[in-house]
Amino acid sequence: MQRSNALKEPICPSIIDDMDFLPIFLNIRQQSCVVVGGGEVAARKVTLLLKAGAKVTVVAPEICGALQQATIQHIARRFDDTLLDGAKLVIAATDDHAVNLAVHAAATARGIPVNVVDTPALCSFVMPSIIDRAPIIIAVSSGGAAPVLARLLRARLETLIPAGYGRLAALAGKFRDQVKQKLGEGLPRRAFWENVFEGAIGEDMLAGREEHAMQRLQQAIDQSSTPAGGEVYLVGAGPGDPDLLTFRALRLMQKADVVLHDNLVSDGVMELVRRDAERIYVGKQRADHTMPQEGINDLLVRLALQGKRVLRLKGGDPFIFGRGGEEIEKLAENNIPFQVVPGVSAANGVASYAGIPLTHRDYAQSVVFTTGHLRDDNIDLDWVALTRPQQTVVIYMGLTGLAEICRQLIAHGLPADWPAAVVQQGTTRHQRVMVATLNDLAEKVAQAGFKAPTITIVGEVVKLREKLSWFEPE
Ligand code: SAH
Repeated sequence: MQRSNALKEPICPSIIDDMDFLPIFLNIRQQSCVVVGGGEVAARKVTLLLKAGAKVTVVAPEICGALQQATIQHIARRFDDTLLDGAKLVIAATDDHAVNLAVHAAATARGIPVNVVDTPALCSFVMPSIIDRAPIIIAVSSGGAAPVLARLLRARLETLIPAGYGRLAALAGKFRDQVKQKLGEGLPRRAFWENVFEGAIGEDMLAGREEHAMQRLQQAIDQSSTPAGGEVYLVGAGPGDPDLLTFRALRLMQKADVVLHDNLVSDGVMELVRRDAERIYVGKQRADHTMPQEGINDLLVRLALQGKRVLRLKGGDPFIFGRGGEEIEKLAENNIPFQVVPGVSAANGVASYAGIPLTHRDYAQSVVFTTGHLRDDNIDLDWVALTRPQQTVVIYMGLTGLAEICRQLIAHGLPADWPAAVVQQGTTRHQRVMVATLNDLAEKVAQAGFKAPTITIVGEVVKLREKLSWFEPE
């Protein structure tokens, strides 16, 4: 192929001949396709061809287990030219170069598109890396130059494109004619679809609320306008490290018009919220409530009724000691659409980053999450349940009451030298871990000047940290 030099010919870049292949999507439904070769590589190609509805013939003296299970025609002999009669597409996936060459020559002579796996020089077409959100298919190709790079790029795109995009496209396909009839051609129709995809209906689809989305879309078509998008996303922000966010959390964070956050949501996570979203701090400290829970509940309702996409970011998981339930109760009462996105709870995140497995075959078959929040200087917990053998106890919010908690656990039967740890700001670069025994934990933590948020882990699993610690904070 002749390559133009962009530097020499900057005037009309549109005609520069710099694509090795023309990307096209081929309809091979019910067409016969031949794959030569019977190994794992051939099997992968066959899977793709079958997914696209082809009738596949595999030519190979022997075929692997995966191919034996597949719905194909198997011709158990060596390749010869006549096997390509009637074929619309040929793939050679053998490890015998002479056979691959013969397939290439035979296909070329008959004008049939041919791909010889991993041999770009013998390909009239190449198979791209695929991001499958059928009916949306995204293909990435390096033209055979750097397949690994194409695969890496594919992995990145996978994370960017929500799994539900296929459903969204299918929904659009279903209503396409209706919308066209109602809104005609041109700008209004385009704006309508943009609002559907970016707005509440699209969000419904991505969250799996298909029926609701269809009802709303039908209504929108009947009224020739999409509904105002007021809704609330109750999102778990994890324990601190932004890497622990879910894909869905990140997507909604990028979409919100306004965000309500508190001091448990780390700066690193806040960095990822859409730049121009309004930020409202509703932080709560133990004795110093910036905004009472009632106020937050009402504010969520008010903002959503103004048509805003409201993001309520909560540390950890919204349904674990997060009062998330109360916030959405109010939304439900007011018929405001909402969705809840789980987050890595402090117990999970902190335990992993501190190298303390919460369960272990030898030490703990169950784990209990509890809160050590003081009420009128008392901690009213089910101490008998918390001191059961072969169990790990994770205590949220227990820093102020730590001495009392340890004293009660010993009083109810745990040994004074029972392992216990306190982790401060787990998963962040400020993480600190104190490993001690029930007897001296509170004193050591006080001496070291630990500050909230901390979590306490009690149980023999704490001993494993010595071996399993991996995370190195600053
Ligand atoms: N919904 C949250 C918990 C909220 S209660 C979750 O699922 O994690 C607040 C308590 O969580 C804090 O007092 C502390 O005990 C714990 N916590 C949250 N983040 C933490 C962190 N990074 N390190 C240690 N403890 C944390």
